[in-house]
Amino acid sequence: MNSLFSFSPRALELQQQLATFMSAHVYPAEKEVAAWDADPAKRWTSAPVIDALKSEAKKAGLWNLFLPDKTHGAGLSNLDYAPLAEQMGRVLWASEVFNCNAPDTGNMELLAHFASDEQKSKWLTPLLNGDIRSAFAMTEPDVASSDATNIALRIHRDGDDYVLNGRKWWITGAGDPRCKILIVMGVTNPEADKHSQHSMILVPMDTHGLKVAHALEAFGFDDAPSGHVELNFQNVRVPKENLIQTEGSGFALAQARLGPGRIHHCMRLIGLAQRALEMMIHRAQTRVAFGKPLGAQGMAQEAIALSCCEIEQARLLTLNAAAALDQGNNKTAKDEIGMIKIVAPRMACNVIDRAIQMHGAGGLQDPFLAHAFVGARCLRLADGPDEVHIAALARSMLKA
Ligand SMILES: Cc1cc2nc3c(=O)[nH]c(=O)nc-3n(C[C@H](O)[C@H](O)[C@H](O)COP(=O)(O)OP(=O)(O)OC[C@H]3O[C@@H](n4cnc5c(N)ncnc54)[C@H](O)[C@@H]3O)c2cc1C
Repeated sequence: MNSLFSFSPRALELQQQLATFMSAHVYPAEKEVAAWDADPAKRWTSAPVIDALKSEAKKAGLWNLFLPDKTHGAGLSNLDYAPLAEQMGRVLWASEVFNCNAPDTGNMELLAHFASDEQKSKWLTPLLNGDIRSAFAMTEPDVASSDATNIALRIHRDGDDYVLNGRKWWITGAGDPRCKILIVMGVTNPEADKHSQHSMILVPMDTHGLKVAHALEAFGFDDAPSGHVELNFQNVRVPKENLIQTEGSGFALAQARLGPGRIHHCMRLIGLAQRALEMMIHRAQTRVAFGKPLGAQGMAQEAIALSCCEIEQARLLTLNAAAALDQGNNKTAKDEIGMIKIVAPRMACNVIDRAIQMHGAGGLQDPFLAHAFVGARCLRLADGPDEVHIAALARSMLKA
């Protein structure tokens, strides 16, 4: 892919294998999935072709590639995984085919590292098998959730149980009928210092008192069936064994969960932007305006050249963040992770916006470009808004 980073022989083989799988199975299924998702009678159900592709991918060994942990996952480094995630990112739903989709990946990573053996066998095993899906519930409508210390959903101990009361929103995947488990962040001890008030707890979706209030739309897209919903918790009671780690460890777990997950999104965004660039180039070669192809017009050339530079810059930063994570951990790699989280969604928005522009009015309703733009724009907010990462990076630079 580029000469600054080298990949293991296994990763190079997987890159080939994945490219072949994408060409043979994933791109040809795009129309079928789009038609399924557009059918009002089938809303909030998953296109059967995705399940069929999951079985094929599993058989081919293209499964759980995101997880560096050899016991549970493919055992690839983050650097080796980056070009694979980039390929998956070229189709918005493709990562699910390889069990590499958010938010399940971050949840599986968290459970693999921090869950008890009982929690692992009950929830991690079916997630790793792709039999169920999960969601991560942190953000709340009533508090500024970009500051995780504001999270207010109450989790109080009552005998051998914990009882949850509060609201969450923008919870990705929780409206999917296949979603069986939530990881919920809430306050167990409001008297503790602000980084020790919170805990994370496992809540099965069928627990009494837990309600999906409604689906939320980003620019009119509800992303069903894996979209985002508001959840109400009213006296939701779960056994004390559902707590992950100890009371007060929620903030630290949230930090741990978001490290690799943040760069996975960025890796996929590189693929999304790269595909938009390829569409831009094709359009520039085939559309004629004012007597010559768009590609012969200076401004179209600028759009292509700038997009190419911005994608490559973001790709190198992403690979650098992945390598920093492999060589250290979430803490030591936090600046590199912050940099790419700031750069990748903005880059993808710019590139996809140029691709839309080059397609004229048709670009606004192009099934790939319009959805890709919304996805990239959402990622300037999901996993923390740009400003929070900018502020954290600046603090780190000022301290250094
Ligand atoms: C598509 C999508 C999927 C999501 N999925 C999930 C999910 O699965 N689970 C989940 O828990 N959450 C999810 N979220 C929520 C997301 O993580 C939050 O929206 C985000 O963290 C911001 O929180 P907030 O919306 O409460 O904004 P607020 O905290 O109210 O912030 C509002 C704005 O204030 C500005 N701001 C904040 N801090 C600073 C600062 N330090 N300096 C300058 N300006 C600042 C930013 O512009 C920010 O956008 C998702 C969001 C989207 C869009």
